[in-house]
Amino acid sequence: MPEQVYNFYAGPAVLPKQVLKQAALDIVDFNQSGMGIIEISHRSQAFTAVIQETEALIRELLGVPGHYKVLFLQGGASSQFFMVPMNLLQKDRVASYLNTGVWSNKAIREARLFGQVEVPYSSEATGFTRVPQHGEYTVNPKSEYLYFVSNNTVYGTQFHAMPETDAMLVADMSSDILSRPVDVSRFGLIYAGAQKNIGPAGVTLVIIREDLLERVSESVPTMLQYRTHAAADSLFNTPPVFSVYGVGQVMRWLRDQGGVAAMDRLSKQRSSLLYEVIDSTDFYRGHAEKASRSAMNVTFTLPTRELEEKFLRETTEQGFIGLKGHRLLGGFRASLYNAFPLEGVAKLAEFMQAFARKN
Ligand code: PMP
Repeated sequence: MPEQVYNFYAGPAVLPKQVLKQAALDIVDFNQSGMGIIEISHRSQAFTAVIQETEALIRELLGVPGHYKVLFLQGGASSQFFMVPMNLLQKDRVASYLNTGVWSNKAIREARLFGQVEVPYSSEATGFTRVPQHGEYTVNPKSEYLYFVSNNTVYGTQFHAMPETDAMLVADMSSDILSRPVDVSRFGLIYAGAQKNIGPAGVTLVIIREDLLERVSESVPTMLQYRTHAAADSLFNTPPVFSVYGVGQVMRWLRDQGGVAAMDRLSKQRSSLLYEVIDSTDFYRGHAEKASRSAMNVTFTLPTRELEEKFLRETTEQGFIGLKGHRLLGGFRASLYNAFPLEGVAKLAEFMQAFARKN
């Protein structure tokens, strides 16, 4: 094992070292209580303080307005593919979805179980190399909402401006939440699995405008109604206590780093280092069109399969872990989430330049 390892996994992904060290202590003995964080009741005062602080930090960092609820749910981001239409879309109503990758595709499939779905834009035919720019599509004015995936983890594309439409926005922000400022008030609902930018897997963050809670029909099972969890402050049943705790620790760290404005600056710095290498030679080919490039997931290929195998071998030897691209796309993907150290990206960029020269 190399001395220093850089974790480029797409999720679960790198977390701040100091958070991991603190968690190791808190698992054994939380706040000198003589009990670990994963063995205390979710109704204890100690855990109530944890979940309340975590919510307060998310509200502060993202600027969540007072008329929105912040929920901690289970079932992964994938459960939101059906929970969103189950709660917000009636059978005879229409919702619009922008199809920019595998995760929007899955969400579209689920939404069709509940109502009419229109897809005013899809980049599927061209291999999901881009997201639409303003004016490239029109949204049916009857749409209950316009759904999109702000960052496409697999393909390495990202919306750099939020869609401009009169329709209510709903977004899957699983892989770029809290990496840049967002005007939450433009959204009806935002959700994100924790395991990329904000903490350990096992919890999904949902931010929902309060007036939408009552839209759900009575036939939806209790656990699957947002209002159930909103009314119980995410303590309707046992929440994933360790994951919520982990998100709270990452939020403290994020605040101390300077919040989302600092994360935004850093993520641009990190990804530019790699895009500059990709653009400076014909050796690497970026998957995404330039205007759609993601600051979170940098995707690229090499000229031949043999060179890709060599690149994978040598990067792994150097301690660059998790660079293999998603199985649907092949090639490579460097995931550069909030906790990723800048110097690790600089080292990878240097390695990539040398590798291109030598090969
Ligand atoms: N949406 C996006 C944008 C993702 O990247 C992922 C997972 N990588 C998912 C949804 C699905 O998340 P989960 O595995 O938590 O269901």
